[in-house]
Formats: sequence, structure tokens, C-alpha cells
Amino acid sequence: MQLAEISIKKLHKIGQEKAKILAKMGIKTIGDLLWHFPWRYDDLSEIKDISQLEENVLTTVRVKILSLKTLRSWKRKITITEVLASDGQDQLKAIWFGQKFVGQILKVGDEIFLSGRPSLKNNLWQFSSPAYDKVKVINIHSARLVPIYHASFDLSQKQLRFLISLALKHAPKITDPLPVEILNQEKYPYLHEALQAIHFPEEETDLISATKRLKFQELFYLQCKYQLAKKDYLQHESWPLIKQDKILKETIANLAFSLTSDQNKVLDEILLDLKQSKPMNRLVEGDVGSGKTIVAILAALNTIANQNKFQAVLMAPTEILAQQHWQTIQKILPKKYQATCALLTKDQHILADKPLEKNDLVKKIKTGSVQFIIGTHALIQDKVDFAKLALVIIDEQHRFGVRQRQALQQKSKFQVPHLLSLTATPIPRTLALTLYGDLDISIIKEKPQGRKDIKTILVPERKRQAAYQFIKEKITLGQQVFVICPLIDESDTLGYKSVTTEYKKLNEEIFPDLAIGLLHGKLKSEEKIKLMADFKANKFPILVATSVIEVGVDIPQATLMIIESAERFGLSQLHQFRGRIGRNSLSSYCLLFTSNSSHLEKERLKAMTQTNNGFELAELDLNLRGSGEIFGTKQSGLMQLKIATLKDTEEIKKAQIWAKKIIQEEKYQTNKPLQKLLKNLKTEMHLE
Ligand code: ADP
Ligand code: MG
Repeated sequence: MQLAEISIKKLHKIGQEKAKILAKMGIKTIGDLLWHFPWRYDDLSEIKDISQLEENVLTTVRVKILSLKTLRSWKRKITITEVLASDGQDQLKAIWFGQKFVGQILKVGDEIFLSGRPSLKNNLWQFSSPAYDKVKVINIHSARLVPIYHASFDLSQKQLRFLISLALKHAPKITDPLPVEILNQEKYPYLHEALQAIHFPEEETDLISATKRLKFQELFYLQCKYQLAKKDYLQHESWPLIKQDKILKETIANLAFSLTSDQNKVLDEILLDLKQSKPMNRLVEGDVGSGKTIVAILAALNTIANQNKFQAVLMAPTEILAQQHWQTIQKILPKKYQATCALLTKDQHILADKPLEKNDLVKKIKTGSVQFIIGTHALIQDKVDFAKLALVIIDEQHRFGVRQRQALQQKSKFQVPHLLSLTATPIPRTLALTLYGDLDISIIKEKPQGRKDIKTILVPERKRQAAYQFIKEKITLGQQVFVICPLIDESDTLGYKSVTTEYKKLNEEIFPDLAIGLLHGKLKSEEKIKLMADFKANKFPILVATSVIEVGVDIPQATLMIIESAERFGLSQLHQFRGRIGRNSLSSYCLLFTSNSSHLEKERLKAMTQTNNGFELAELDLNLRGSGEIFGTKQSGLMQLKIATLKDTEEIKKAQIWAKKIIQEEKYQTNKPLQKLLKNLKTEMHLE
């Protein structure tokens, strides 16, 4: 039986109530207890003399109990235990309130450690409810590096520490799943040693090596999982797609611009993958506005053209984006191929330039007469089957769950389609390794020529009117403005701006003679699409919107953006927002307003004014706010990480190298515990 399966009730008598509290914290088995790591330690290891005590400074002393009395406070109806103790030279007093067991555990003559914050009363040092351990018993609460856990109101540090110390007695029974060669070469402690040391470290150096080993272990599993997934994935067959040189060249020549060298390079990488009979699994990373769409569409053209004649599908996270890609296709694909393109979303079903019944469209997709399908989640939800699906493109991939991406890919009955994911979240290399395991990654770094940097300004409230004046001037010149607010409706408690109030204010007070649009997620999709189309056609100059416009939206004449309550957003998200402007050769401005003027927030937002580099901002964001906020890591393996973080660069690199080696050389097959672990992982395995 595995410790991970043995109930904590086997350790110690645990009442129903306590068991419930523990379960709520995710602790049901001995294994859970062992993996409930401290979040910090109090260093109580240094033992001081009473004469060295200082007012309110956390200190440990070693004393002998001279007298002990238990009283009952009639007023407060609690037990009070009072101890007088000496370290041989001086005396002190310790008092416990409401802890009736203390009087039963401690006896006159006992030697004890006391840890707490003393105060001097009537010339006698006094500890109030200090942590204590008897000197002879193994101490877990005092006189050492003491672990501090995430506990709860009804479950004290002390109780948790006690349970964990019991659980640790079982740790040596766990077979270490890390291969011996890793343990030897990296000089990692054994698992049971590491567990002991992370909870109750003897020395700081033990704690450091235990932490390293446990972090490595987590990252190593994650990487093994990716490596296994990749190995499996590459065993599938895909249709090799011959490069359609002529039609690609013609289409590129007909574009209104020439491709940047990064776009060309990435396109080549994709076309090379597509030629293989093994499935491509490539992520294209490019900052907002770097021109990923055109590259993806050219890959699709290569799939549907001439000799290949397969099907390609492009899935976008929002109706607005799907619509936008649809329009791009009308602009850039040769006429002949437009006839075989369709748009399929919840409310729209269009083939070439004509709407048609959804069922008819679905039928045509099934027979293969429609070759390139643009759509939203509807593609997965509805019963859409494909005849010869050879390429799946996922735009803004971080907006989709793993299962959604997989579901689309599984729509091909015969071969596994090639998978191309696009993302505008710039991810530093080590993060990409952790998040996406062994995806092949292409990066579009350079922006199309002639793009001016966006000037970002943190505007103080007193300059608001001047900002509005500035906007008025730009609008007179035919330019357009986004106004972004975090909420749809006003919230009293948070004080953040909402689109509805802001819209009203701008419409009635600030710009009464200008037409203003209002966009938020609660609108019907036809309304949203109409609104965006009108805005794109410059039928009105100001669009007030929530974060629905965050991803992908392309409105070239928009040169101004106001972001209200900017402190509510992460840096990467703000960068995404401002990526909506600066898409032509005019100067663009992003004005940030805050509703909260904390100094720290302003410092954070200042980074926005200092760099236009998405990678730098992502890294800053990562340090400031953690990974979950930025990369939507809920869906990725990172959620399972208990101790490792994205900042553990060294362990991430090591884990990847080892995982490759162990999986490639099939060494996991001779290591029973590791094999078992990986088998379990495999059932929940996924590909990004
Ligand atoms: P993103 O990478 O954020 O998805 P898009 O693909 O939406 O960016 O492209 C942004 C804008 O840049 C579009 O209007 C597109 O037509 C334009 N664009 C793309 N590539 C180039 C290029 N090489 N030169 C000039 N403009 C380009
Ligand atoms: Mg895009």
C-alpha cells in the first residue's frame, strides 16, 4: 500500500471535525501530509540566556521549571497556567492562556525550551503562551528551525507539526522514484531524507539541498510527462504536405506589404514541418502586432492548395477575432480558394460570401468540399466532422483549454493533423520549457516596418481634462480611440471604473458631440460584430470596452488608448491591450489612469512607460505577480507544482535534460516506482 493511499486516521486519533478541516486543506492521506510543505521557517535554533533577552524579540531559552500553578480565570472562564523557571542564573515567567493541557504535560523539574516574544514586567521577563518542547523529547516546536505551515483557524501550527512529525516516521518506507544515477550525479538527498529536512531541518544546508531535490523531482515528472507525450505523439502519422511554391509566391507578392524576415523564417520552419509524415506540434510566439495571422494563413493555403487539397481549420477564442480573420482571408487569399473557405461560429455560417444553413455547411465540411474553416469554440461543440483535416491552427492558444485543443485535433479520423498554435504572450525560454515541454517554438521578434513605438504615459488625475483635450484633437484628425475599463458594471466595494458609467460620462459630459460605441461581453455576438465592423470602418471615433478587446483585434486607425483603473491589470495584459494601437505609421499613445494611487502600483505601471518589449514585461510580471496570473497556467502542468516555481531556472534546465535522457534511453522501464508514477501521469497527460 502506498503512503499516498493511507488515511491520516491511521496515524493518530483524529476527530471528525479535524478530519474535515484537514480534508478541506487537501490533506487526506499520509502522503498529503508529507507533501504539505512549510511556507517559511522561524529560526529558533539559537538558544539565549535570560540575561540576553530583548523586549518583543522572538527568542528561545532553555530553562528548568521551578514552580507551576494552574488557575481558572472566573471572569474569562479560561484556564491559566503559570510557570516560574530558571536557566541557572536568572528567572522568568511563562503564562499560557486557555491551554489546559500545558499544566498536565509540564511538571516541576522539567527542562524545557521556550520560544516566544518576551516582555519585561515588574523586572521579570515574561513569555506569553510561548511554544515549548521538553528537552528530552525530539523538539519540533522550539529550539530549532521551526516550520510554519499554511494552517487554518481551527487547526493550529502545533497540531499540524505534530501530525507531520508522525507522518515522517513512515517516510523511509517510500521507495525513492528518482533514478539512482540522478541522485548520485546531482548529489541529491534520498526522498525520505529530503522530506525530513524540508519539514524539520537540522541545518540550513540540509534545507537547501532538500528543497532543490524536491523542486527537481516535481519538474522532472513534468518534463517526463512531456517527453512521453512527445514520444507517443511522434508515433502517429500525418499527411505530408508538399510545399506549394508557386501559389505561395503569388499570394505573398500580392500582399500590400512584404513579409518581415522573421515572418519568412517562421513560415519556412512551418512548411518544413508540414512536409514530414510525423505530426507538427509548433508554437509561434510573437509579440502583439508582429503579424502571426498572415503566416498562419499561408500555412493553411499550403494545405488546401493544388496537389495537397487537404482541409485546414483555424480556431480563434472570440467571435470578433474569428470574424476578423475571415475578413483577412477575403483580402489575401486568391479568389479561387476563397470559394472553399467557410466561417463557422455560434451564430454565423458562411461559405465563400453566402450565408447558408448550418447543417448544409457541416455537411460540406464532412464531404471535403469546404477546405478552410475559420471558427470559434463552436467548431468543437457542434457535430463538425472533417473529410481530410491536415492542419489545425489555434490562435491565441493560451485562451483555450488543453482539452479543447485536443478535441479539435481529434476531429481527423485518419491521420493526426499537424498542429500550429499562435500566442502573443511572450514567454522567456525557460518558462516555455516548463509550460510547453517539448513543443517546437518559432519566434517572430521583429515588428513590421514603419511601426512607431507606442508612447505610454501614466497620467495623474489632475491632468485628466488635458488628456481629453488631446484626444479631441486627434479625433479631429480622423484617428480613433479605445477606452478600456476593467468592469461592466460599477462595483461599490472596489472602486474600479466600469464601462457603463464611463460610457455615460464620456457620452453625456466629455464628448457630447461625438459618437461613442460600447462593447462588453454581455452583448449578443451579432451586436459585437456589427460594432467592431463599424468601428473598423471609422463610423464612430471612440469605443469604450472591457477586456473583450484584449486579444488580436486589429483596427489600424486607432492610435489612442485610455486604460482606466490600470492597476487592476497585469503588465502582460496591459501590453496586450496597447497592442491594439500603434498598427500604422502614425504616433500612438496609451494613457494609463489609476483609481488607486498606491506607490507600489505606480512603480509597477511605470514599467509600461519604460519599455515596449513584451518579453521584458512578461518577466517583470512574473516576478511581481506569479505565473498563474500571466500565462493562464491553470490549464497547464504548472498547477501541479507544489514547491517548484517558474523562477527555478536551474532546476528546470536540469529536469529537462534528465527527462530526455531517461525517457529516450527507456530507463524508466527498469525503475519500477518511476514507471508506476509515469503511468499515473500518463493518464492525465496532455499536449499543449
Ligand atoms: P498578431 O501577430 O498580433 O496576430 P496580426 O497578424 O493581426 O498581428 O497583424 C497585425 C497587423 O499587421 C495586420 O493589420 C497585418 O495586416 C499587418 N501586417 C502583418 N505583417 C506585416 C508586414 N510584414 N508588414 C506590414 N504590416 C504587416
Ligand atoms: Mg493575432
